[in-house]
Amino acid sequence: MSRIPRIVILGAGYGGIMAATRLQKELNYNEADVTLVNKHDYHYLTTHLHMPAAGTESAKHVKINILSLIDEFKIDFVKSTVLQIKPNEQKVILSDGTLSYDYLVIGLGGETETFGIPGLKEYALNIRSVNTVNLIREHIEYMFARYKGEPHRTDYLTFVVGGAGFTGIEFVGELVDRMPKLCKQFNVDPSLVKIYNVEAAPTALPGFDPSLVEYAMESLKRRGVIFKLGLPVKECTPEGVLLANGEFIKSQTVVWTGGVRGNRLVEEAGFETSRGRVMVDPYLRTKEKDNVYVVGDCAIVLNPEGRPYPPTAQIAMQQGETVAANLVSVIRGEKQKEFVPNLKGTIASLGRRDGIGIVFKYKVKGLAAVLMKKITDLRYLYLLGGIPLVLRKGRL
Ligand code: FAD
Ligand code: NAD
Repeated sequence: MSRIPRIVILGAGYGGIMAATRLQKELNYNEADVTLVNKHDYHYLTTHLHMPAAGTESAKHVKINILSLIDEFKIDFVKSTVLQIKPNEQKVILSDGTLSYDYLVIGLGGETETFGIPGLKEYALNIRSVNTVNLIREHIEYMFARYKGEPHRTDYLTFVVGGAGFTGIEFVGELVDRMPKLCKQFNVDPSLVKIYNVEAAPTALPGFDPSLVEYAMESLKRRGVIFKLGLPVKECTPEGVLLANGEFIKSQTVVWTGGVRGNRLVEEAGFETSRGRVMVDPYLRTKEKDNVYVVGDCAIVLNPEGRPYPPTAQIAMQQGETVAANLVSVIRGEKQKEFVPNLKGTIASLGRRDGIGIVFKYKVKGLAAVLMKKITDLRYLYLLGGIPLVLRKGRL
């Protein structure tokens, strides 16, 4: 190769943006051409999306301008939508052009998994991007406004969240915080508002520490959440949701948080996938093409027990760092390193003032969990953009 290698990074989520910022730090100007493609001109904090969805945080706060994170002398940023990946031709088709690459990093994130449940695609809302959460927040406010004109329609004030995994739990935590303010704003009797969290498994947060799950459920129930456990959502209609026991909950607002799959573009590119996720090799490359790396929710890495690690921002970021280090090694003819996740724990918010988590094997709950979550958020901002980004976006 007489010219310098071309690296293309698809997606500026946790994995992609970390790969880009690490490459810009490590590579010299003449070592590679690096291009980052993202459909928006901002990186967003997916881990905060439950808050603007409920209206407890501004959507503006979760967006970070990509050009404020990258050095345009080192990284070309292309704001465009990826339509197709062609690994055999080493090309990526965008909505407004084509890019060729020598090395590709796929970090296009996840999509909502509906498991073919009828009506979910058509009638349920989901927490996936700034645009989808803006829709949820505005829809909730619209429901309150509609109720004022049709006070017999209590289904306008019934909110159903399908799935009590971490996304579902964090979202209902914000919803119960927001409701008193909405009731006051629209002069609505708070006892008319119903928030259901429906879960197929016998417990919320299946697989998580049982004592913390109990704490979380008690905290949410005290603030008005009605759990429906062991009851899969069977169908969603314009009038509400049907549960496996035949019960029908009348509601004009169904938010589906029942699962995540990898981006469809990855399987359409011909890589072997399981629910849209690629089983990568220890260096995070696809088995079909060793010049294609996959990070974040599009990748599967197995834990020592042989089960996939859950798709998290924590892992996506670390994968972005490993891929950047490996690309630098390949370009310099050095040995690549295997990806070894360094898991620090899991923390979930239960609204503004409560939370649960396991941090370095220690259980935390209440304000301690809230504080740990804030520290985690600040740490991410620091890793991404140093003190200036912490000062601009950080909040305690
Ligand atoms: P993403 O962060 O989803 O980024 C994908 C990027 O690709 C986006 O910028 C998107 O715009 C872009 N993109 C997608 N398609 C295209 C296209 N066709 N063309 C161009 N660009 C495209 N994990 C944790 O570790 N801790 C948490 O506390 C936590 N909280 C969460 C809370 C919520 C409400 C949710 C929904 C998830 C949470 N997660 C958390 C999970 C975590 O957010 C994801 O695992 C993480 O975002 C995955 O990162 P990623 O880089 O793979 O993709
Ligand atoms: P998930 O797959 O973890 O949870 C989905 C939940 O929906 C499960 O409990 C599942 O049993 C339930 N479900 C599936 N089908 C159902 C049906 N038909 N009816 C009712 N319930 C059904 O998805 P998620 O919560 O969006 O999380 C996705 C990833 O993001 C996970 O890896 C999670 O760890 C991570 N995440 C982490 C945090 C955090 O660390 N604070 C927050 C949000 C998400």
